[in-house]
Amino acid sequence: MTRLYDSQKRILVTGGAGFLGSHLCERLLGEGHDVLCLDNLFTGTKRNIAHLLGHPSFEFLRHDVTFPLFVEVDEIYNLACPASPVHYQHDPIQTTKTSVHGAINMLGLAKRLRAKILQASTSEIYGDPEVHPQTEEYWGRVNPIGPRSCYDEGKRCAETLFFDYRRQLGLSIKVARIFNTYGPRMHRADGRVVSNFIVQGLAGEPITLYGDGEQSRSFCYVDDLIDGFIRLMDSPDEVTGPINLGNPVEFTMRQLAEMVIAKVGGSSKLVHAPLPIDDPRQRQPNIDKARALLGWEPKVALADGLDRTIDYFRGT
Ligand code: NAD
Ligand code: UDP
Ligand code: UDP
Repeated sequence: MTRLYDSQKRILVTGGAGFLGSHLCERLLGEGHDVLCLDNLFTGTKRNIAHLLGHPSFEFLRHDVTFPLFVEVDEIYNLACPASPVHYQHDPIQTTKTSVHGAINMLGLAKRLRAKILQASTSEIYGDPEVHPQTEEYWGRVNPIGPRSCYDEGKRCAETLFFDYRRQLGLSIKVARIFNTYGPRMHRADGRVVSNFIVQGLAGEPITLYGDGEQSRSFCYVDDLIDGFIRLMDSPDEVTGPINLGNPVEFTMRQLAEMVIAKVGGSSKLVHAPLPIDDPRQRQPNIDKARALLGWEPKVALADGLDRTIDYFRGT
């Protein structure tokens, strides 16, 4: 719908009260946009957006993306979906519905409005990968019927939908494959490794290393990731992705645990717990595409990002 009086860009962020969504809303408001934050508060909290609620260009809408949505916006960032394995496996059927019905509804909205739409996809598209580091051309190794499948296959189907809406209907789409991202506003009980280790370390409790701790991940600080999102949304129409966004510096979980213990200065010991089913052995993004097409690469080293995240958890 053509607007009569206002030149501010109106941007919808689904999952806007979550970890990444709340940082994205804050950043978009800071850039002068009008932000509609949508969330069903499954894993997100009002606390994450409490500081934004009084802002004249910010609006919160409690809504579930599996139901149709009729609003008027210029751009859509589709982040709604639980991201922690503990959360997405809590109600796996709802997880698939959120990814698939959510994508259909948001693409339908984008189609009606001719709005640009960005999908928060994931490195889980690659499953437990045989190609290392992972490039966007790699099709992945995903178990279609395991406990992680609701998330992995849901996100894969969402990517399919995005590309079919592009091919069939000419929509302007952007697909970001996000690798493990951490930072302030992860939930204390989120269950993901960085928040778990920090919360355990600060409390002087044992650090739970799943399996032998030799599996690897590559951790991106939230500010870097948000910068990548915005560059991708603002890129030329032909830049659709999928594009890897993550920090290519790889660590084992044992190294991460040792770093956290050294930083919090606590007395925590490492304890071993069973490795979750289908837990990927290794994960590291190849970010050549993001460098070339978006001029993007992460700036915050894990040591610095951990300091900021530890400060946050000390204060909560
Ligand atoms: P998060 O759990 O903190 O945020 C997800 C948000 O979506 C929450 O606020 C939750 O309440 C909301 N939500 C869930 N289901 C919904 C529904 N049906 N309708 C409306 N809202 C719903 O997780 P996050 O880390 O901020 O992840 C955001 C997005 O980024 C997710 O799509 C996730 O898959 C993707 N992602 C994140 C990472 C990461 O490392 N943080 C990595 C890969 C992909
Ligand atoms: N949709 C929505 N908001 C809109 C337009 C569509 O939520 O502004 C939903 C609609 O309910 C539908 C889905 O998006 O289920 C897909 O829409 P599309 O137009 O692609 O498909 P169709 O309605 O033709 O099945
Ligand atoms: N992990 C761990 N201890 C924990 C939580 C996670 O050792 O308390 C491991 C987990 O098995 C995985 C890695 O840390 O190998 C990253 O797990 P996370 O749940 O953060 O995300 P994933 O990348 O598996 O989606």
